[in-house]
Amino acid sequence: MIPFNKPPFTGNEEKYVLESIKSNKISGDGEFTKKCHKWFEERLNCKKVLLTTSCTHALEMAAILLDIKENDEVIMPSYTFVSTANAFVLRGAKIVFVDIRPDTMNIDETKIEQAITSKTKVIVPVHYAGVSCEMDTIMDIAKKYNLFVVEDAAQGMMSTYKGKALGTIGHLGAYSFHETKNYTSAGEGGLLLVNDDRFKDRAEIIREKGTNRSLFFRGMVDKYSWVDLGSSYLMNDMSAAYLWGNLDVVDEINQNRLNTWQKYYNGLKELEEKRFIELPKIPDECQQNAHMFYLKVKDLKERTELLEYLKENDILAVFHYIPLHSASAGLKFGIFSGEDKFTIRESEKLIRLPMYYNLEDSKIKKVIITIIDFMKKQRENKC
Ligand SMILES: *Cc1c(COP(=O)(O)O)cnc(C)c1O
Repeated sequence: MIPFNKPPFTGNEEKYVLESIKSNKISGDGEFTKKCHKWFEERLNCKKVLLTTSCTHALEMAAILLDIKENDEVIMPSYTFVSTANAFVLRGAKIVFVDIRPDTMNIDETKIEQAITSKTKVIVPVHYAGVSCEMDTIMDIAKKYNLFVVEDAAQGMMSTYKGKALGTIGHLGAYSFHETKNYTSAGEGGLLLVNDDRFKDRAEIIREKGTNRSLFFRGMVDKYSWVDLGSSYLMNDMSAAYLWGNLDVVDEINQNRLNTWQKYYNGLKELEEKRFIELPKIPDECQQNAHMFYLKVKDLKERTELLEYLKENDILAVFHYIPLHSASAGLKFGIFSGEDKFTIRESEKLIRLPMYYNLEDSKIKKVIITIIDFMKKQRENKC
């Protein structure tokens, strides 16, 4: 069986996790957390980062930081993971979904303005597959209407837009270190990126259960106490140690994934030229991170058949997402702004192929050949 995913494991993680265990400081903000924080701030050119228990929690922190309240409106694509919406729904917000662009599957920046009302507080671009949304346009709209931008960059670590790291362009950003993402912190984890100085101190407080404990440890206050809303959003230091093992070889992992992506692309190009499938489009201003390799087939029926055919040939491919506005919670907590031209239609065509660090060439070839085979059979059946 060719698995869909394997969590990135480079060999250094064991050593660091053991080191962390033996340090007798395995709760949050230990030595490995400090190392990771420094690494991200320097590498991403980001003012402040905070490791969290998940990207979901980093997004929840963003919603608290922005004082989202009952009936505030938050604009985002419907083609995303549930956490993008839930983080704001938990604070009482109404979600306003905007259609996606069929080329990148990202929010259509030209449809955002029509969705803005006097209640709109935030725009949440989701960088699908680690390919950036059209951020200049989105930031201009935010400025014009005095809105905040929270980048859901869960899939976007090591990707850039016009040279800037994803997650560092909006007021706040969030990464995921879930085991299915390019880099992981022992299975679950995330990062909040704070790009606006106004949020720096309060972000620490919210992450530390609403206390000013971080300031206390830095000697900036003489006692710590309950000062704000908050929860326990700190990553434990063993998880940070695992992540540190991934960061040791971050460029190698990135290059390895990009190579795999290119091999898929080259192998499947002839099918796109024949218009049997569509391959991902990467806009010129975006450097991607090969978070996923997806292709789009004709329709839902063909997708179901191809997934089945791949499974028969021991290949685990998957699809996602059920658009949020069509799901039961989405109907309750959100509305779709304008016409859904592409969200449902395009989401039903999409298949994700096996993609992970050190995916072997023989497996990549097998996946390509199996897809070509399927497409041939499809056409033969019709003649
Ligand atoms: C993975 C993912 C999340 C959630 O990340 P967790 O770390 O699992 O909480 C949120 N948004 C998007 C777009 C994702 O892909």
